[in-house]
Amino acid sequence: MWVARTVEECRAERARLSGRVVFVPTMGALHAGHASLIERARREGDAVIVSVFVNPTQFGPNEDFHRYPRPIEKDLALCEAAGAAGVFNPGVETMYPPGATACEVTIPALASILEGAARPGHFAGVCRVVAKLLHIVRPDSAVFGQKDYQQLRVIEAMVHDLHMPIRLIPAPTLRETDGLAMSSRNAYLAPEPRARAVGLFKALSLAQHMVRDQGRRDPGPIEAAMARVLADHGIEVGYAAVRHPRTLASIDAISNDGAVALLAGKLAGVRLIDNMPLPGAE
Ligand code: AMP
Repeated sequence: MWVARTVEECRAERARLSGRVVFVPTMGALHAGHASLIERARREGDAVIVSVFVNPTQFGPNEDFHRYPRPIEKDLALCEAAGAAGVFNPGVETMYPPGATACEVTIPALASILEGAARPGHFAGVCRVVAKLLHIVRPDSAVFGQKDYQQLRVIEAMVHDLHMPIRLIPAPTLRETDGLAMSSRNAYLAPEPRARAVGLFKALSLAQHMVRDQGRRDPGPIEAAMARVLADHGIEVGYAAVRHPRTLASIDAISNDGAVALLAGKLAGVRLIDNMPLPGAE
């Protein structure tokens, strides 16, 4: 498995690959969820390129950019074991050369709601780095996790609107045995808050139960029930929302299209997000 640190090295390695190239962008601190994306990518094409880059432009000034874990040797071992052909691991100055005039890529309709409202500039940073990475790697397709549901919708909109010739492959969320979605940020949690973090999964499971088993269609009571479960677990509610599955707009009722339940919560200073699809009417 090759490891490229510069744009030129990555382009040269990519040029040597034949067949369909599938790309898996990550911020490192890789876990089994990331490994499942690499495995999904291998089934999809002939060679998998993973990027490991903690992207400063998607973090707010008071967020965890500096303390985000960077266990690069462990990450490279996971990529190799999962069957990646190569890893692009650039430094910040490679992706953002000092003195370069900044470009901004935004999807205004999606970038200002939910995660975008809580983290101003976050999706502009995500779009900017993903656009750069896609131009460097030039994959045939790219895998993104449904764990970051809004991010997936944002990237879809960018790829579609900018006519990027890339097929996007959504991949399901991997969870711990108690249901907590795997996340690099779970490592920040001490055992006591870690035990309470299951509240996110319980809230989403309750939403799914209310829709699937009780036939509830009105978002209001479902959102209130989710917020109660979070509060019961001592999780500070960022948002607890039932939205349209594609536009993420508010809806009056869950229609045949179904919906998505989205949560953000904070416990012991750690902000976690999760989501779950809600079925439409039969
Ligand atoms: P990150 O390193 O957190 O930026 O995530 C890199 C990719 O892995 C994104 O497409 C995420 O949606 C995806 N991902 C993160 N957590 C999980 C998980 N628990 N299961 C599946 N995919 C995930």
